[in-house]
Amino acid sequence: IKKIGVLTSGGDAPGMNAAIRAVVRTAQYHDVEVIGIRKGYNGLINGEIKEMRSKDVSNVMNLGGTILHTARCPEMMTEEGVSKAAAIYKILGLDALVVIGGDGSYRGMAELAKRGVNCIGIPATIDLDMNCTEYTIGFDTAVNTGMDALNKLRDTSSSHERCSVVEVMGRDAGYIAIWCGMVGGAEDVMFPEEKDKIDSAKVIQQILENRSIGKRHNLIVVAEGVGGTQKLAKDIQEITGIQTRATILGHLQRGGSPTATDRMHASMMGYHAVKAILEGQQNRVVSYNKGRYEVLDLTEALNMEKHLDREIYDVIKVLAI
Ligand code: ADP
Repeated sequence: IKKIGVLTSGGDAPGMNAAIRAVVRTAQYHDVEVIGIRKGYNGLINGEIKEMRSKDVSNVMNLGGTILHTARCPEMMTEEGVSKAAAIYKILGLDALVVIGGDGSYRGMAELAKRGVNCIGIPATIDLDMNCTEYTIGFDTAVNTGMDALNKLRDTSSSHERCSVVEVMGRDAGYIAIWCGMVGGAEDVMFPEEKDKIDSAKVIQQILENRSIGKRHNLIVVAEGVGGTQKLAKDIQEITGIQTRATILGHLQRGGSPTATDRMHASMMGYHAVKAILEGQQNRVVSYNKGRYEVLDLTEALNMEKHLDREIYDVIKVLAI
């Protein structure tokens, strides 16, 4: 193993830089050259590359976003695009390609693997919506950002005796929502995994009950995958007469300096990715399951299943009285 490539792809996530740093430095420690590829798969197709050495990743661990930049790459959805990416991998003389990204990026890796590219994945998405791993880089920072926002909204809701309906990110998954709901002390959380069970009349009933026992403010979390946040706030205000505000956190949750947890996982996963390459493993992904880092087969990883821990929601409801 002489030379590897590294790229970040799909949605950005805080902690990606810590993963890049770990990949570059672990490789250099073992005398392996690293080629940084800009803007995800686009940079591979267009040859936007640069050699990366230890000093290039100084002072980046604390930065949000990704120093390699990231993007979606529609060309990868075409036969021509994937073949071109695989051809450039070969021209560059790479022995492996480290892809730091989410589920979509992993599907791109599977296409490249079919064309002789040795791909190693590191899971990074704030949404935690990857079935092969219990942890994805960026999740903890996003939840902490959501929690900070909920704390601030709680202050003002409390002063004005209002109700706050807060929409958090997560695409089609409710992980960020139930975590924010729990750690922000919300009374209810609406998440896409149980979209068909959502009953806004019940939520409103709960708000009224809580007011009757002396609560002076209310906090409801809605996942992006459920939506309808503005309408829910309007309905609550109309039916209960309680002043209600909707807040959509949006991309705020994608930024910020990564938390200790994200830096730790990103560093360990970057290290394990390069170690797997040095051991001669082919087409693998690094995961974190049951308290341990594992290296899994890419195809098997893409076929795994994972379910949101509903117990968290049940406990939120118990604690909402
Ligand atoms: P994420 O990796 O965060 O889930 P996306 O779903 O946007 O983000 O995927 C990132 C990129 O991965 C896409 O822009 C595309 O280039 C590539 N990709 C996604 N799905 C496929 C696929 N089925 N085949 C080939 N490439 C894919």
